[in-house]
Amino acid sequence: MPAPHSSPLAEELAPAVLDRLLRYVRVDTQSARDRTGCPSTPGQLELGRMLVEELREIGLGDAEQDAQGYVFATLPATVEGAPVIGLLAHLDTSPDESGTGVEPLVHRDYDGGDIALPRGGTVLEPEQMPELRDAIGHDIVTTSGDTLLGADDKAGMAEVMTAVAHLAAHPELARPTIRVGFTPDEEVGEGATLFDIERFGAVCAYTLDGSALGELQDETFTAAGADLVVHGVDVHPGFATGKLVNASRLAGRILAALPAERTPEATSGRDGFIHVYAVEGGAGTATIRTIVRDFDDDKLAEHVAVLRDTAERVVAEEPRARLDIDVRPQYPNMRVYLDEHPRVVEAAEEALRLEGLDAIRTPIRGGTDGSVLSARGLPTPNLFTGGHEYHSKREWASVQEMGSAAAVAVRLAGVWAGQAA
Ligand SMILES: [Zn+2]
Repeated sequence: MPAPHSSPLAEELAPAVLDRLLRYVRVDTQSARDRTGCPSTPGQLELGRMLVEELREIGLGDAEQDAQGYVFATLPATVEGAPVIGLLAHLDTSPDESGTGVEPLVHRDYDGGDIALPRGGTVLEPEQMPELRDAIGHDIVTTSGDTLLGADDKAGMAEVMTAVAHLAAHPELARPTIRVGFTPDEEVGEGATLFDIERFGAVCAYTLDGSALGELQDETFTAAGADLVVHGVDVHPGFATGKLVNASRLAGRILAALPAERTPEATSGRDGFIHVYAVEGGAGTATIRTIVRDFDDDKLAEHVAVLRDTAERVVAEEPRARLDIDVRPQYPNMRVYLDEHPRVVEAAEEALRLEGLDAIRTPIRGGTDGSVLSARGLPTPNLFTGGHEYHSKREWASVQEMGSAAAVAVRLAGVWAGQAA
């Protein structure tokens, strides 16, 4: 069995990361889709205020939260001439699962068996989640079974906090100026939209928002959203003979005609998909809401074309019906932008190596704040946090892996300090 800690530094940092995680997850920061302001929910402001206070206690005196909920702070350099780097995590948790009344549990020295949680009949089975097998001998943090944990991304947040606290307490360690940023509404795709890159003032940043030990992600999906609206002819069913054109029935035919092999449930690895996530309607109009994803822009365009052609073909069979299609870009694959700044990913690889970890380079079948930030000019790859099974009641985190993530952040500072002019 491998040693549970990747280094003495990770072992030293792990208890502080755990302590912070246990405090942060108790604040309900679930974000909301269809937001009317930023942040979408007040809990994110509350957690942000806690973090500002804590950052100031650590010695980051300029810590502040802006009106939109973004928390920025600076840890000044101990060497001159090194580029300013950023460490980022997001404040919110997923709208997909309740974040109210999270009561975290710590299971010490995990033995490799099922972990039955006290509420909701929730069980963590290594059979279903092989990553648990890699965590034998670790201390595992779970929920009580009826909420998500919020390690996504409060593990990342606890790791950033613990890394900067460690660096602040050790001025003898060489470090560049580090900008800390905590962002609202990442889970609803808005974390980067109001992020003030100029005010942040870093040449690059790292989100701690990944999962398994060693993950270093520089590639995300390119994403688009597409809504199809079918307009039929609504007539009272009693007088409908030969007149009614039922939009919902047409929508059903479109759904049936969409290729089953291009769905999230039928694809993996580098293959993209068309995902129908909502259908609503009546006889008069019906709306099919989809997201379309691929790592390759041309293939993304092809999925969109398939969606469009399928819908148009079905609706064309009924000349009295009409179809509207609205396609909008959501976020880009960050790879193109990161390729222009190879040093950013190289530095992360070096930090992982110094921590004794192999970089695991899996493309993200999703997006992160880093996708949009990289496109907007702040190259931002993603690092692991040690959290697993995100957005679910089975979410868990390894204390040892969290210690490793905080240690990687500390080592990243050392790597960039070595870049001093
Ligand atoms: Zn996240």
